[in-house]
Amino acid sequence: MLEQRKGTGRLYLVATPIGNQEDITLRGIKVLRNVDLIAAEDTRRAKRLLARYRIRAPLTSFFEHNEPVKKEALIKRMIAGEDIALISDAGTPGISDPGFPLIRQAIEEGIEVIPIPGPSAHVAALILSGLPTDSFHFFGFLPPKGAKRNKRLDEIRELRGTIVLYEAPHRLLRTLHDLQEHCGERQVVVARELTKTYEEVIRGEIGKVLMEVHGKKIRGEITLVLAGKGRGT
Ligand code: SAM
Repeated sequence: MLEQRKGTGRLYLVATPIGNQEDITLRGIKVLRNVDLIAAEDTRRAKRLLARYRIRAPLTSFFEHNEPVKKEALIKRMIAGEDIALISDAGTPGISDPGFPLIRQAIEEGIEVIPIPGPSAHVAALILSGLPTDSFHFFGFLPPKGAKRNKRLDEIRELRGTIVLYEAPHRLLRTLHDLQEHCGERQVVVARELTKTYEEVIRGEIGKVLMEVHGKKIRGEITLVLAGKGRGT
């Protein structure tokens, strides 16, 4: 096991709302008020949240394209004794966002990593789906095309646990078609804009859901929940 370094700062992983600004914990607010620096995937979105809760800690950006360079700088600051909070553009940092490499390196450097749990779109969609939650598989986003996508869809076909996926609105129809083609007719739930004004949940067999969304302009953030093999037709 790696030794915990003495005298270093800590890395707090603070979950933030996936839409509704009230979905943040009291502890999350307290930590954000007290750290030396907040590293945020989307600083514009973060500023709105920080303003609402009168959080004045300095803010820096940490996103996919500056991650390799920024990661080193953040690690140095924690080794020098600063506490840093990582926040994602929404939900739980490290889940389908660039937090993972920073978390890995912090652990390797012996920096204490402290989770401040809260919302994550995949858990919110799973619990409202009505599909079994005793066993589930979360895949984040499907590969957009090609052999990798087909391989993942073939893998999904065989799973008995419920499957949870993130999807972009412009790819929803294509993904529903692909799921139907690879997995056959099954129950699916489209969870859109959860916790926001236009929250919408569409449940049913894939074919029925496809008819419902066909021809509509699909907007917003979407999580898909699919019944596992033999567990919902
Ligand atoms: N770290 C985040 C979490 O814990 O939920 C996920 C980040 S991932 C880059 C963003 C994706 O999560 C979106 O494209 C969408 O698929 C899903 N998502 C985020 N907010 C959502 C919401 N309010 N309703 C439904 N899905 C959402």
